[in-house]
Amino acid sequence: MRVVLVAMLLALTALFTLALGVWLAAWVGLEVRRVYGQEWEMLGFLAVVLVMAGIAALAYRWQDQLMNMLGLASYAVPETLFCQTCGATSSPDAMACTACGGTRFAISMPGAPKTRWHVQIGMDVLCSDGRPVGTVKRRRVKDFLVARALQRDVYVPFSAIAGANAREVHLSVPFDMVGHSGWARPALVGRPN
Ligand SMILES: [Zn+2]
Repeated sequence: MRVVLVAMLLALTALFTLALGVWLAAWVGLEVRRVYGQEWEMLGFLAVVLVMAGIAALAYRWQDQLMNMLGLASYAVPETLFCQTCGATSSPDAMACTACGGTRFAISMPGAPKTRWHVQIGMDVLCSDGRPVGTVKRRRVKDFLVARALQRDVYVPFSAIAGANAREVHLSVPFDMVGHSGWARPALVGRPN
């Protein structure tokens, strides 16, 4: 709620700055016209508009830092992560689980149902033995396509996901099982369906 209020306040400030800027520019333009003549009016007007636009751009860039300073941006960082080996909660900056020493963490409990939203294009896909399979190429309703080096791409069902973090999808099957489980393969010719 506080975040929303501050964001609204910042937006209102930006609007006010713009309105003030236009008014100030018009006033400066008129003053310049009175002192230096009509041909300088537009120049004065534009100069003020440019300065105000610069201030607005800077304020926009500073907004993130300002939000950080006020401690309002911390909501974007998960407060706890779950060890994917034993399920214990852990702080986001921990290197290893204090309960079991595991090093795999994710935003949800291990074994929690994984939806297709845990899988993003470009993520690395790792097997249960830690060996990399490839990278996520596309998603379908019940599985996702993994691009493999020197091998045919393979569709991996979402049910084979053991866990996921921001960069990696961890499968519940060992490397040798990938592609030998009756998973769908994209057609060699034409678009995969
Ligand atoms: Zn653990």
